[in-house]
Amino acid sequence: MIPLAQPVVGAREEELVLEVLRSGRLSLGPMLARFERMFAERLGVPQASAVSSGTAGLHLAVRAAGIEPGQEVVTSPFSFVASANCVVYEGARPVFCDIDRRTLNIDPDAAAAAVGENAAGLLPVHIFGYPADLPALERIAQQRGLWIVEDACEALGARHGDGRPVGARGHQAVFAFYANKQITTGEGGMVVSEHKERIDSERNQGRAPDMGWLDHDRLGFNYRLSDVACALGVAQLERLDDLLAARSRVAARYSEALAGIEGLELPCPDEGGDVRGWFVYVVQLPQGADRDTAIKALRERGVDSKPYLPAIHLMSFYRERFGHREGEFPVAEDVARRSIALPFFPQMTESQVAEVAEALEQVVAGYATSRS
Ligand SMILES: *Cc1c(COP(=O)(O)O)cnc(C)c1O
Repeated sequence: MIPLAQPVVGAREEELVLEVLRSGRLSLGPMLARFERMFAERLGVPQASAVSSGTAGLHLAVRAAGIEPGQEVVTSPFSFVASANCVVYEGARPVFCDIDRRTLNIDPDAAAAAVGENAAGLLPVHIFGYPADLPALERIAQQRGLWIVEDACEALGARHGDGRPVGARGHQAVFAFYANKQITTGEGGMVVSEHKERIDSERNQGRAPDMGWLDHDRLGFNYRLSDVACALGVAQLERLDDLLAARSRVAARYSEALAGIEGLELPCPDEGGDVRGWFVYVVQLPQGADRDTAIKALRERGVDSKPYLPAIHLMSFYRERFGHREGEFPVAEDVARRSIALPFFPQMTESQVAEVAEALEQVVAGYATSRS
């Protein structure tokens, strides 16, 4: 079976993890500061805060941006559920808007139309590592007095048309290091924020940096990332360029191998100077194909795949809590119905890509025959 994802971890990760274990400083130690510094330098931002997950980071970033119960945040329905959940945690309401069919990121016109009187901010997601249209969203935010928090959890290594790395435009931005991301710490995340002191305090139960043990001056959480995880992060950052290059190599092979399959939609190529940071390889099946049957048929041919991503507003919790229904966001719903993630990882060989392409071609051809 060709797996969906596979982390690259080697001797350097073992060495640094061992260094932490032997140092006895397993949490809030020097490896934490080292990982944060290295990440900030890589992005070209002044500072960053490591946290226990991307979700935790989004929660802290939204709190630091300023959010009150009942307020609204405009965001994408075509994302991993965490980018909407972090708003719900604060008693606020995610307001979804439709996406752009090419990039699959929120459509700035739809976002502007979704901004109501109670809107506090915009939460764009750089889905599948492709940069969201931040210049357009920044204009909306400025006109309407909104903050922006970027969900860059899938977008390490991506760049905007002006050359700036995703996450380095001066808004709060959150990255994630779950095992399938561009770099992994097992579980983990990073918040780029001008409110570092607040983020660092709230990840640590609300303790101020200069406060004594167990004294707390605000509400906080345990969103700390251990130094063992940070050691993994440092080793992974050292090999980031190689990892990114390998991912784009695999993506290029896929795009070549899949180009001939009729009706199949591939990830959009880079345009206007925007550069994708390759995270997953997601294709949209031809119109009319049944996704679940395709996934089963691929599995029978030794290829793992999964629906990626289901629309958030149509998940049962969101339907029940916020009264969503089908038909609200036609583009997002169409894309969500047809999208599957194919196996995608840096060490993937040319023959594995060919194997996946052949299986997918058979499966899609099967639909063509069964339809006619
Ligand atoms: C991975 C991811 C997150 C964060 O996930 P965690 O598992 O909490 O690290 C958030 N948003 C998106 C779009 C993601 O892909």
